[in-house]
Amino acid sequence: MAYDNGNVFAKILRGEIPCDKIYESAYALAFYDLNPQAKVHALVVPKGEYISFADFSARASAAEIAGYIRGIGETAKLLGVEESGYRLLANHGADAKQEVPHLHVHVCGGEQLGKLIAR
Ligand code: AMP
Repeated sequence: MAYDNGNVFAKILRGEIPCDKIYESAYALAFYDLNPQAKVHALVVPKGEYISFADFSARASAAEIAGYIRGIGETAKLLGVEESGYRLLANHGADAKQEVPHLHVHVCGGEQLGKLIAR
């Protein structure tokens, strides 16, 4: 599957549509989810064109991987959930109902979350 640069996160990265930005580096951009599923709900995307976690883990350079992972940690710190706890989640593909075909990790917290279950 080829990367579709018309996806909504590609548009945010190009500055074509706005986002409520939390963190930005050379490798990552973090912003609040438009439809929050927890009191604190942010998304962290890599700056490169990667469809999913599978695509990113296979193709990204070591610098991109390190910069992205560090960006996720920095985002959690800026959100103020490092002490209280948070959940990271990345949906890949149809069974996980991935909606946007640009890798994104959800950072959820700010309240007691339900137990993570498979379905
Ligand atoms: P997923 O199901 O893992 O692909 O999640 C996609 C997420 O992107 C959902 O939680 C949406 O609420 C969120 N989303 C979609 N469009 C935007 C947007 N323009 N700004 C912020 N979050 C968005």
